[in-house]
Amino acid sequence: MCGIVGYVGSSDACSFLIDGLRRLEYRGYDSSGVAIQAEDRFDVTRSVGRIDSLAGQLEKTPARGCLGIGHTSWATHGPATEANAHPHFGGDGEIVLVHNGVIENFQVLKSELIKKGYRFHSDTDSEVVAHLIAESLKHTPEVADQPNLRFLNAVQAAVRQLRGTYRSEEHTSEL
Ligand code: GLU
Repeated sequence: MCGIVGYVGSSDACSFLIDGLRRLEYRGYDSSGVAIQAEDRFDVTRSVGRIDSLAGQLEKTPARGCLGIGHTSWATHGPATEANAHPHFGGDGEIVLVHNGVIENFQVLKSELIKKGYRFHSDTDSEVVAHLIAESLKHTPEVADQPNLRFLNAVQAAVRQLRGTYRSEEHTSEL
């Protein structure tokens, strides 16, 4: 039972995410990670073991930005390694994803995505979802005057192809 935390606002995302992940430690985990949006890319930092180890890495190599996601994971596919820790990239790095649960049909989806040229860097089922959203975006048209709707439609189209679990309870806090 791992944890997900997200932040968008005007403050430093990294400290919010680390604090949020510490609060989720009671749920148990074997690795953790954060992705923070920099100007034209996502900075992803992942670590095996305690949140302190992730926080230590971020002290050495800070990731600055006001939008980010964080994750504590119990690896269900492959060993607990940095490569299997979340977040995972999708496409050419335009997508970053964290996921709680298990994608039952990931092997079929993975084979199809590999045939289309997607390259995988982990043993996880979750990485499939990141690439699937990237692929779905290619086939999802813009919606006039609503740029965010294209992304939402692409995510929904990708999710429709998934079998398994990918939900968690939700908490929102305002700063
Ligand atoms: N199935 C995913 C993985 O192995 C997510 C596990 C979890 O819920 O932490 O990476």
